Formats: sequence, C-alpha cells, structure tokens
Amino acid sequence: MNTPIRQPGPAARPAGRYAICAGIALALLISAAPSAMARTVKGVKVTDQIFMATDMSRTFLVVTPDGNVVIDTTTRDSAPRHYEVLRGMSSAPVKYILLTHAHEDHVGGVHLWKEEGTEVIAQRRFVEYMHYRERLAGFFQYRNEAQFLAPPRDVKSKGNFAAEIPTTMLFDSEYKFEFGGLTFHMMHTPGETWDHSTVWIPELKAAFIGDNYYSSFPNIAALRGAPPRFALDYVNSIDIVLALDPELVMVAHAPPLVGKEEIRSTLGEYRDAIEYVHDATVRGLNEGKDVFTVMNEVKLPERFKIEESYGGVAWSVRGIYHGYAGWFDGQPATLLSESPDVKIRELVELAGGVDEVVARAEALEEEGDLVLSLNMADAALAVDPNHPGALAVRVSLLTTLGRGEKNFNARSWIGYHKRLSQKRLEAQQ
Ligand SMILES: [Zn+2]
Repeated sequence: MNTPIRQPGPAARPAGRYAICAGIALALLISAAPSAMARTVKGVKVTDQIFMATDMSRTFLVVTPDGNVVIDTTTRDSAPRHYEVLRGMSSAPVKYILLTHAHEDHVGGVHLWKEEGTEVIAQRRFVEYMHYRERLAGFFQYRNEAQFLAPPRDVKSKGNFAAEIPTTMLFDSEYKFEFGGLTFHMMHTPGETWDHSTVWIPELKAAFIGDNYYSSFPNIAALRGAPPRFALDYVNSIDIVLALDPELVMVAHAPPLVGKEEIRSTLGEYRDAIEYVHDATVRGLNEGKDVFTVMNEVKLPERFKIEESYGGVAWSVRGIYHGYAGWFDGQPATLLSESPDVKIRELVELAGGVDEVVARAEALEEEGDLVLSLNMADAALAVDPNHPGALAVRVSLLTTLGRGEKNFNARSWIGYHKRLSQKRLEAQQ
C-alpha cells in the first residue's frame, strides 16, 4: 500500500493499524550496538545531495532545495555530535525523518532533529519493536552491560506498551512521497529487525538499507538476546534492494557500497551466504539431526569471503534451528529435569568431587584443550560456585580465550564472564 497511516495522537497501545504517537522523548533503555564510548564523529559529503555523520553508526542527511531529510539518527549518546557536524554542512529545515528501524543506534537522536511540523516516518511494526525494547528493559540492561560495556543501571520496565513512540506516520508495505525534486520510496524490508525498512531515492540511484548488511556475517541470532531474525527475510529483502539496481547503497555500520558491480557482488554474496546457511540448517532439521550436530556440520564454503567479526555462523545455525523448532530437544530428561545441572552435580560427585574436577580442568588447560577445560571449571562451579581453584582456572581460561577471539560479540561475553569470575574470586580472598 502507498497510504501512510497518520498517527492519531497518544494512545495506550497500538490498536490495529493505528499506533501510538506519544511525542518525541525517547526513554531508550537498550542499545543495539556499542554505546557511550567517546568517538570522533566525521562528516562526509557522499554526493552533492547526500551527507553523513559517522562513528560506530551513521546519520544521513539528504539535502534538497525545499529542505532536508534525515535518515536514521544514531544513538542518544552520539546524536549531539552527529547533529553538530551535519548542521555545519547544511542548516536548512528538517522536513522529514525516516527511520530504517527501532534499534537505539538509529532512533536515539530523533528528539534533536525533529522540528515543528517534521514528519517522522517508519514501518508500522516499529511501534511494537519500541514496546518490546521497553518491556524487556531490565533484561537488556544486563545483556548490554555484557555485550557493549554499557554501564550498569538499575533499569525497570515501565510496562508492556509503555514505550514513547517518536513517529508521526507509519506505513505497511511501502510509502512513497515526492519532496524537493526527489522521490522517497520507503519499503518494508525485514531482516535485522521485523520493522526494518529500506529508503530508495530513484533519482539518486541510492538505497539506504540500515542494518540489513554488515561487513561481517549478519547477526542472525544476536547473543544479546533477540527474537529469531528470520534468515529468509534477509534474503527476500536483499533481493528487493538488488532489483532496484542501485548505484549507491548506504548502510549504518560499514562504508557505502558504490557502483552497480560492487553492490551486486557484495550484496549478492551476502545474500547467498545467508541462504546457504539457512538451507543447510533446514536440511539438518529435515534429516532429524540434533542442533549440535547441525552446528558442527554447517560451515560457510570457501567461496564466501565473509568474516565472522560480528555475527557468527555456528550460533546463527543454532538460531535458525531454534527459530524453526523451538527450544525442546525431544529428550524426556530435558522435559522433566529442573536444570541440566542435576546431572552435572551427580557426575562431579562420581568423579571424586569438585577438587578432582578442578584438577582435571587445570590439566586440560595445560594440554591446550581450553573449551573442554572451561566446561570442567563450569561443572565444578555448578556444585561450588565460590570454589577458588575453579574460579582461578576460569579466569585464566577466559583471559586466553578472549585474547584469541576475533568476533566482537563473543569477545565481549568472554570478557564479561572473566570479570564476573575475577570479582567472585577476589571476594574469596
Ligand atoms: Zn544499527
């Protein structure tokens, strides 16, 4: 459809197609990307009409003779610098703010850019995404502490539908408008999030695709915690972008892709890699294999030159598997036991007790089998959470594992647990 949904004003909850509009203040409690750290913000003139401010995320400014259009607004922390840098490049009034999705590193600066009469437009499911973030505020505050080094805060959810929504207009599948001699065509292209949109400006041959492309394998199964990101959504959405035949693709966390050929090969490879991992996982499911077997079997073939610096293939396989199959592995013990620790505690006792298991963890560390050693240390800690030997070997292992880890997310979680064990160990001394 091409008719936007005018938001009727503040309401308690999204009611069908008419969702809430509760002003511009954002009580954003989670971050979808590294936050808060001071970074240098650069202003870049991409073309005569497209400017961007960039640090870990990007704000885009499309300049027209009739005023400006902002696409995405970075985090609340970075937004003031982005605003300053881009206002220095063009101070014309901001008539539209177009949001590719509801992650904090895209909506954090709306309150700075929004002027009297500025339309703020997003896909209809943006509203539920904002509520979901607010609903799980407590969960995300410790997840973000682990993954993004966000300072711990005592954050509480304000309720199921309590998020403040900055948009003034919502659309379903697409929305097109003319402004300043350009066409702005917003399309629902789910992938990174269920509300994700692409902004296409045909006159400039430019597509703004938000987080549906990274210079890494995508974060299909976010360790931070997220509902399954459906792999085939990415595939379909990238197909939609490729069909536009763009000459310029702007993304939030990587440099622009420039030129039809580069775009076709880079986005095409990305799309094919996602489809490959999806299809291989589905094959494993259909063959009745358990999730760990499929995780071990599915590898990205050599022909894909895609790093795993942010998303990871193995845990994407797990995400796709559970996204389709749910949590239950079919085992009665899983169904009937209150926790897998039940068997671990019994086995630790059978092995001669915690000290014996810690000694085994130390020996395995010596031998270089770090992951098995970590599992043994965790088994010992399942019986005695404050065992100094088990904590010490865990700290040592996580230090080594963290040093060798190239994936940002995995490194963050390893570092977080190292700090937790270190703290607990210090409390014993
Ligand atoms: Zn982002």
